[in-house]
Amino acid sequence: MDVYGLIGNPVGHSLSPPMHEAGYEALGLDARYVTFEPDADAAAGAIAGAADLGVAGLNVTVPFKRDALDAVDPAPLAERIGAVNTVDYGPVRKGDADRPRGHNTDAAGVTRALEHHDVTIDGRDALVVGAGGAGRAAAFALADAGAAVHVANRTAGRAVELAEAVPGATGGGLDDLADRVAAADLLVNATSVGMESPEETPVPAEHLHGDLAVLDAVYAPIETRLLREAADAGATTVDGAWMLLFQGVEAFEIWTDEDAPVEAMNAALRAELE
Ligand code: NAP
Repeated sequence: MDVYGLIGNPVGHSLSPPMHEAGYEALGLDARYVTFEPDADAAAGAIAGAADLGVAGLNVTVPFKRDALDAVDPAPLAERIGAVNTVDYGPVRKGDADRPRGHNTDAAGVTRALEHHDVTIDGRDALVVGAGGAGRAAAFALADAGAAVHVANRTAGRAVELAEAVPGATGGGLDDLADRVAAADLLVNATSVGMESPEETPVPAEHLHGDLAVLDAVYAPIETRLLREAADAGATTVDGAWMLLFQGVEAFEIWTDEDAPVEAMNAALRAELE
């Protein structure tokens, strides 16, 4: 049996176990997905050494995504983003490497969620609101897929710093948000606004328009105020569960070398969320 899992703290309410186990079941794979919740000072060692316990793959979540970078051999995209959310122990188990391979599948979560909804990224103007972990993944992913990216963040300096690392990107604060949204084809909310207080939105309704595709990284609630108001404005909307699904799908495919059973994984995820 192959053991996969999620390492973070806390991980008690994670949706990844049912989503991945639905995938194993659909493909008839003999595998389990479990959660690990180490203390902060033990996390890097656990990530570096989990292959010794027979673990085949780990997802990494808050607060260990940055620590994981130092515990693995990071793929170039994970290194540019500065965070690892998926660790593949395959190369270590086969004796091909000393360190596990680290990936960032949040980036694919953004692009594959949009592509699944027939949203074109190449050649589009993308506005990423937020410059934390999700914002970094979204900015690199969209730029690599051919979009012209502007990052807007409450703390403007963080957006400027991120934009300097992303090809062709610009960055700034929230002062000119109305103009930035008006000029955008794609809008990604990569802030946590709308999560803890569902009545809040990162982008006022009057700025939204029908030529936008809007992806909200927030997945609880699944229909945020931003998505509701974007739909009212005639925009295409993609909820955060699609991003969560496709970051998991990408990890599943890295680990198993199989096409993930997207529909089965999506059904299991949505059954937990709705
Ligand atoms: P993070 O690293 O802590 O970043 C938080 C971001 O939100 C920062 O840009 C922060 O701005 C901004 N922010 C927080 N409160 C704000 C407010 N009141 N007004 C304006 N901006 C505010 O968090 P993260 O890991 O990027 O996660 C962000 C969201 O994405 C969370 O809701 C998380 O659940 C979600 N997420 C979803 C997925 C998925 O697969 N769907 C994956 C990853 C994350 P400052 O820099 O100014 O503090």
